Amino acid sequence: MKTIDLVVPCYNEEEGLAHFVTETNKVIDTLPDYRFRYILVNDGSRDKTYLVMKQLARRYDNIKYISFSRNFGKEAAMYAGLQHTTADYVVVMDADLQHPPEVFPQMIAALEEGYDCCATKRDEREGESFFRGAFSKLFFKLSNKLTDVKNPYGAMDYRMMTRQMVDSILELSEVQRFSKGIFSWVGFDTKWISFKTVDRRLGKTSWKFSSLFRYAIDGITCFSVAPLRFTAVTGAVIFFISLIYILITLVQTLFFGITTPGYVTTMSAVLFLGGLTEMSIGILGEYIGKIYMEAKDRPIYITKFSNFEEENNEEQDG
Ligand code: UDP
Ligand code: MG
Repeated sequence: MKTIDLVVPCYNEEEGLAHFVTETNKVIDTLPDYRFRYILVNDGSRDKTYLVMKQLARRYDNIKYISFSRNFGKEAAMYAGLQHTTADYVVVMDADLQHPPEVFPQMIAALEEGYDCCATKRDEREGESFFRGAFSKLFFKLSNKLTDVKNPYGAMDYRMMTRQMVDSILELSEVQRFSKGIFSWVGFDTKWISFKTVDRRLGKTSWKFSSLFRYAIDGITCFSVAPLRFTAVTGAVIFFISLIYILITLVQTLFFGITTPGYVTTMSAVLFLGGLTEMSIGILGEYIGKIYMEAKDRPIYITKFSNFEEENNEEQDG
């Protein structure tokens, strides 16, 4: 019998978690040929998510949980969950039922067919503002162009992967994790399926536009040095244009005398170069910051509670 681990990052999901498990179990019951296990990761929730998890684990023996010492972010939660997987197939999904378990059969079929991964993308973006939609389209285009990461528009984290692919993902142990990039970077054959997105039923999303912007910047800088090259190239182009301009003004001054008016040119040059320099330093800083954080080599997450150890103890006792 094949096993499937469900990795579920949870942040402030006390209202919906039990419902999520009930709904998911309905689908699991229709797939008796596979043994499912939940790995719930409590990412430092401020509400009673942890207690709900513990209750659920007491009720169902296929529920494992890890609880962080604080909020480390969804990426860290996914990593922790993946590290604890042992199954043949592994699913990464949200706890808010925006990732419908109803597509499990489709995902299993794809993997049995020989794909290494069956990932989802959204087709319709209901309830998303025009601005937000345009922004994410631009992001997908840009990151596909600039990096080794190739994702279709609307690609989501929700996916089922083979053991081999999960092991490869775990080899990328960087602290600044950008999962959509990592999933794509490791390669393997991915089948894309889509479904209509649904609104969050319970709880509320913890994403703000500023964090979305941050996410986009990270998506590119974690996988490409193209922005650095961009600053070098613009610097070089401006340098050569300036050389020509200096020659022209020199010739003008030497042969025709000093021409005083020059307020506009001076101001433009000062402001333009100032802006460009600041921007270049900013881009540099973005990378230096990343190097700094990676160099510290801190753990990606810290566990406070988990029922994985219990299992080990039991094994020792027996
Ligand atoms: N999540 C998490 N840590 C965080 C934020 C979110 O583990 O700091 C979890 C959350 O509980 C959910 C999933 O990540 O299961 C996606 O979060 P959310 O629904 O808020 O994001 P969206 O659906 O808008 O992408
Ligand atoms: Mg959600």
